[in-house]
Amino acid sequence: MALTESKLEPSRASFDVVVESGCGFSRTIRRGQTLRIVDLEGNQAVDTLFFDAHDPTERYSAPDTIREQGNIYLTTGTKLISSEGNVLLTIVADTCGRHDTLGGACAAESNQVRYALEKKHMHNCRDTFLLEIATRLERLGKRDIPANINFFMNVPVTPAGELTFADGVSGSGRYVEMRADTDVLVLISNCPQLNNPCNAYNPTPVRLLVWRKS
Ligand SMILES: [Zn+2]
Repeated sequence: MALTESKLEPSRASFDVVVESGCGFSRTIRRGQTLRIVDLEGNQAVDTLFFDAHDPTERYSAPDTIREQGNIYLTTGTKLISSEGNVLLTIVADTCGRHDTLGGACAAESNQVRYALEKKHMHNCRDTFLLEIATRLERLGKRDIPANINFFMNVPVTPAGELTFADGVSGSGRYVEMRADTDVLVLISNCPQLNNPCNAYNPTPVRLLVWRKS
């Protein structure tokens, strides 16, 4: 996997915050601004959605993104395409090398199917999305949650077409960076999952930085 480093200095970022695992985050990223997500401790899954900031009915589309680039993995050069076929953001740096957009967000239902019936009520990413929408994003509702991106998650597809939730390829301090091609609303669930060996059963914080248009 080709890795691309960024020249942007964290000390020059206009916004810099740590988001604990299990927490949600939302913010508008203006056109030309750059968002970096840093996997502080390694192999964390950062479940992420993007919306057009002015019309959230236009939102990130996994199938359009995959079709346009002819590849299922996201990395440097990937254009994150909207449901209307427009470019929302472009990944401009990536020191992890691969991000997933097929695996979906963990949910009460998937906790039961994948792990055990009694795991239903454990905290999951879909609940975090819903809580963030209910408390901070009154324009959105639960029908506005499409298929998401899982930054730093490794979900290889076998030659037979099977999804495999494999051990992560990320590590402490690895990051992915994207430039907004239009004003976008970012909605993140920093995954709280305690049942998945991908993160060694240990969800960890991430750091988010934004740089103004250079
Ligand atoms: Zn999750």
